[in-house]
Amino acid sequence: MELLDRVASILEYGPICDHCLGRMFGKRSHGLGNDERGRALRITGSIAGDVAFAPEQEVCWICNGLFAELDLWADRVAKALEGIEFDTLLIGCRVPPLIAESEEMVWTDLSLTHPEPLKAEFNREVGKRVSARTGHEVDFTHPDVVAIADLAAGEVEVQVSPLFIYGRYWKYERGIPQTRWHCRVCRGEGCERCGFTGRMYADSVEELIGRPLIEIFSADDAVLHGAGREDIDARMLGTGRPFVIEVVAPITRRHDLTPLEDVVNRSAGGRVAVVFDHWSDRREVETIKSEKAYKKYSILVEIDGAFSKEEVQTALKTLEGVTIHQRTPARVSHRRSDRVRKRRVKEIECVGVQDCKFLIEVLGEAGLYIKELISGDDGRTTPSLSGVLGAAARVTSLDVVLVEAVVPETRPQQMKTESGEYGTS
Ligand SMILES: [Zn+2]
Ligand SMILES: [Zn+2]
Repeated sequence: MELLDRVASILEYGPICDHCLGRMFGKRSHGLGNDERGRALRITGSIAGDVAFAPEQEVCWICNGLFAELDLWADRVAKALEGIEFDTLLIGCRVPPLIAESEEMVWTDLSLTHPEPLKAEFNREVGKRVSARTGHEVDFTHPDVVAIADLAAGEVEVQVSPLFIYGRYWKYERGIPQTRWHCRVCRGEGCERCGFTGRMYADSVEELIGRPLIEIFSADDAVLHGAGREDIDARMLGTGRPFVIEVVAPITRRHDLTPLEDVVNRSAGGRVAVVFDHWSDRREVETIKSEKAYKKYSILVEIDGAFSKEEVQTALKTLEGVTIHQRTPARVSHRRSDRVRKRRVKEIECVGVQDCKFLIEVLGEAGLYIKELISGDDGRTTPSLSGVLGAAARVTSLDVVLVEAVVPETRPQQMKTESGEYGTS
């Protein structure tokens, strides 16, 4: 079918606006707006004289006059974005099914090969207008905000993209979980058991870092994505643990990291500390979660019976470089499936004795259960320090001192072990 025959056939469906007519051949030529192309097609068709082309005088049967309202929609979008800080935006829309069906019917009937959907033109045209009005660029891949026009309802919904900050945290106090931990009884609803907080613990690293951020960004929430996690009763010392914090639906987004870091550190009151390294993104969250990190722990170990530091050191050296078989520890078996995990001990060493307890440093593969490596967990973990010594041994305090994606070539310099710092608690 010739182009003009197609144009004639389209016009037979009913009155159609230049936009909707031009869009039927949308991807055929570049540089022209759909409305300009539509107008040109209509005029050329009229001159050809085969079919009576009616001028645009009635309401378009496809879009119902939507394209006469582009400025109105741009107003609605600009109003919906008022008060929100952003640099880039993207327009989306919800098209009523009837409109989509109408144009798809024509595409199929006339075997049109390169039509552009109404949705695409609407988004582009409103985007141009909002961009001109606000001075903000349209960004198709990582917009700060997405404004979605609900064409049937005449309303605009705004979705604010989250912000991501990459940093490292230190946890100086035991008893703080990494993330919010919902009350087991009420699952977050609030009940007598949890004092109607919905929580097992009043604070978490996530909240100590996130709470001031939520306030500063006027955000809905702040979610912590850590490179692994330490136990509640372990501190996180040494070089800190890498994390990305996701600030959900921030109303403000232009902040410098250094003052943010200061506010968080002041607010956390020395229980947790952070450095914010750089603005991050969703992709880095995936990376950080998938990293198979090595971790270094500093632990205090109590051993039944009289053992010298040298005897303990000798026993520890038999574990170095060895793959440990660990059946799911009894203490976590209620929430993890029972199976045997194999994890390597990269380095293990006794670095001192404090109050008859042995100060030991362990560098192990991610997922190595340290307490069980020492105690043997009633034979569930083999080999173990307890097994090698033939005496009961237990961890009385545990700190994570290093989290790295790769095994560090050199041992970190500062491993201060001030006396008293490793007391049981
Ligand atoms: Zn139309
Ligand atoms: Zn509860």
